[in-house]
Amino acid sequence: MDKTILEQLKKKLQTDEQRLVTELATITGGVDTEEGDTGKLHFPQYGAKDDENAAEVATFSDSFSLKRKIEESLHDVRGALARIEKETYGICRYCAKPIDERRLIARPESGACVACKEELSSRS
Ligand SMILES: [Zn+2]
Repeated sequence: MDKTILEQLKKKLQTDEQRLVTELATITGGVDTEEGDTGKLHFPQYGAKDDENAAEVATFSDSFSLKRKIEESLHDVRGALARIEKETYGICRYCAKPIDERRLIARPESGACVACKEELSSRS
């Protein structure tokens, strides 16, 4: 893989990592949480009425799923950065063939080639 492209992708991944960490800090109130830890997730307090309680639960589950989504992306981004360090970046984790550069440029955290990704999503 071209070194210049690799450097660019690495930079993009590092920027993404920073952004995700910041987003995560916004929903957890700046508390550094372990992956999958919801204990420190801020539970909103609107009031004691039924509709207020329902709104609290809705907001909480929204931020819970958002937190999960951010954590998943962060996991992918950090995995990609780790693969760059180990020099296995750009290699499909399923078939070990090189991943199309255009795919990596569009989605630098990709760990699977298009063929394998399609195979996986058609199975589930
Ligand atoms: Zn593959």
